[in-house]
Amino acid sequence: MVTTHNLGFPRIGAKRELKFAVESYWKGETTRDALKAFGAELRQRHWHDQAALDLVPVGDFAFYDQMLDMSFTLGNLPQRVQGFHGDTLDNYFRVARGRSAKGTEDHAACCGGVAAGEMTKWFDTNYHYIVPEFTAATEFKLDASRLLEQLAEAKAQGVKAKPVIVGPVTYLALGKAKDDSNKLALLPRLIPAYADLLTQLATQGVEWVQIDEPILVTELAADWQQAFTTAYAALGNGKVKLLLATYFGQLQDNLALVAKLPVAGLHLDAINARDEVSAVIEKLPSDRVISLGVINGRNIWKTDLNSVLNWLEPVARQLGDRLWIAPTCSLLHVPVDLNSEQKLDGDIRSWLAFAIQKLAELKVLALALNNGRQAVTAELADNQSAIDARRNSPRVNNPTVKAAIAGITKAMGDRKSGYAQRAPKQAAQLKLPAYPTTTIGSFPQTAEIRHARSEFKAGRLNEADYVKAMQSEIAHSVREQEKLGLDVLVHGECERNDMVEYFGEQLDGYAFSQFGWVQSYGSRCVKPPILFGDIARPNAMTVAWIRYAQSLTSKPMKGMLTGPVTMLNWSFVRDDQPRSVSCYQLALAIREEVLDLEKAGVNVIQIDEAALREGLPLRQSQWKQYLDWAVESFRITANGAQDETQIHTHMCYSEFNDIIESIADMDADVITIETSRSDMELLDAFENFQYPNEIGPGVYDIHSPNIPTTEHMVNLMKKAAERVPAERLWVNPDCGLKTRGWAEVTPALTNMVAAARELRAAH
Ligand code: GLN
Ligand code: ZN
Repeated sequence: MVTTHNLGFPRIGAKRELKFAVESYWKGETTRDALKAFGAELRQRHWHDQAALDLVPVGDFAFYDQMLDMSFTLGNLPQRVQGFHGDTLDNYFRVARGRSAKGTEDHAACCGGVAAGEMTKWFDTNYHYIVPEFTAATEFKLDASRLLEQLAEAKAQGVKAKPVIVGPVTYLALGKAKDDSNKLALLPRLIPAYADLLTQLATQGVEWVQIDEPILVTELAADWQQAFTTAYAALGNGKVKLLLATYFGQLQDNLALVAKLPVAGLHLDAINARDEVSAVIEKLPSDRVISLGVINGRNIWKTDLNSVLNWLEPVARQLGDRLWIAPTCSLLHVPVDLNSEQKLDGDIRSWLAFAIQKLAELKVLALALNNGRQAVTAELADNQSAIDARRNSPRVNNPTVKAAIAGITKAMGDRKSGYAQRAPKQAAQLKLPAYPTTTIGSFPQTAEIRHARSEFKAGRLNEADYVKAMQSEIAHSVREQEKLGLDVLVHGECERNDMVEYFGEQLDGYAFSQFGWVQSYGSRCVKPPILFGDIARPNAMTVAWIRYAQSLTSKPMKGMLTGPVTMLNWSFVRDDQPRSVSCYQLALAIREEVLDLEKAGVNVIQIDEAALREGLPLRQSQWKQYLDWAVESFRITANGAQDETQIHTHMCYSEFNDIIESIADMDADVITIETSRSDMELLDAFENFQYPNEIGPGVYDIHSPNIPTTEHMVNLMKKAAERVPAERLWVNPDCGLKTRGWAEVTPALTNMVAAARELRAAH
């Protein structure tokens, strides 16, 4: 008999209930007890949703983040919050979100202001965890209370509980040594805390514990491989059985290591690492459980159940009771319930599965494996017809797009001339001063703007009035920019609620859910658009707005587009063609928009690629392949432009060292980047590479409400000019200004323009 289980369930709730509950607690509108009670209610609901499984995850719930939960379980709190004398949950939120010092001066050392923990991406997902902090002096002290309480709750509800924890090596690997000490030196102190935890779980009658070690799908140096051997020699073979869980990729070089670890079972992502399944079966001792992740936990498509059974049935015959099946990874990365969707197009809806539907698929697979396919004939037939309908749908397959993809040539990615020839032509056209100033695109999204947009969407505001409202916003932002004395203006993006959704809504091949929320971090969720079909652009998307904005000023107006790689990386993408093909399709569609803007007389066009870096594969050995098609997609998008048209790109991060060659390959005339918080040090990468084109290193942090001084920005730009010739420098903020108010933006930009003038005068 095959066993079914799940690695984790989305905790945010089908209607984002958890988000609203914690946010109302943060605002002081509800009590801590009410929040805790609500957490218990959600857990109960989610366990109920998983009741058909043989083993149900417990401990995957978190009020903010599962890594932060683990830090608290291990007693590894950052030094700065250790003196706190309030409730643990409040301290947990202090680490998660930071706390301003206002009004707490008397308690500075204990419960006053603290900096938030650093946050970073969980592997190659869009989930962000709070980075564990270490120093050479870090000690661990187990506090199993959270896990034990949830276990007791589960038991009281008759849940077949399988506690879930982050494993010790992944925990160390993902943390950060604040004093640059060697994190691995902490392993001997960490292992006893884990051993203690496992013993406590065993005392509660737990049989299996899922111990997540996704770091095993990355390249591990020899000392980290050794850490696995050491840790599991101490933790394996104990009173509880360990299911070592890996996901998101292949084990590759780590396979031999994993096969030797004394754990009772191994979970493998059998979609990403399908090719490794037979090697794992061969290498693992014959008493080990093998759990195969056969339902994709990272996308929203129905599984092709018959085709999974075709390869899984022989495996099941071979493994017998040793086979477990599950989704590939925690379902944290998918929305909760497709049944919430009332407005989604019927065809598309019939092709999708969210968390609850994925678990139902798992159940069908288990029944088929245990009792034969005839036990689930109707379910398999239904599934097959949905799979076939999607595969053959004219809405998915557009022959014109396929032909255009086949017709892509190398020349489409090339500008007519190199940067050195283009730059003087652009200069002659644009007549910009030294240290030209610009902004990144968006201006404050005021309550009135959002109201007008939502009224229009709801049909309560007619199109003509909506256009009028937006035009008046555009006119306002153009006037402000002229008053400020900026050199290259933007229209302000008032008509966009989101830089991906705005374009997705106008492209064929994209669909939008109502409740397809996925947790991004803490209470923040994103609702990725669903890229389901071949991408085509029926109409121009931005031209009318930009043309209107340009008509209001004699200064150059910058057209504003989202690039193909960012569109791709922030969407749920197709599983029926390579990501690269979807990306090229997006590139062709946005290329048409570039050419239309150019035809409309727009001489400066920015193509945002905020998420280029996010798409990097987990293994460095696969980076080049990704970067090649990602950069080529950008080039196809941008490089149909005439020499006189100045192409800008923007990226909101600050690590360029390892991808600088690809950034240079993009060949944008101007790149604006986020640098203000790094004191311009990250320009070193550009300097060392002798990056040839223009750069706008952000001079102020738009995430902060502080108004930067002119002097501060002048100093930053002087540092920039030590690394990049002044002739190729621009002056701009770090990113778009949509989250700020005009009361902050106007003085900040006033100072920024003053800084540029001071620099020019000294030039
Ligand atoms: N043009 C966008 C804006 O200004 C860029 C946002 C981003 O890079 N995340 O809002
Ligand atoms: Zn940005």
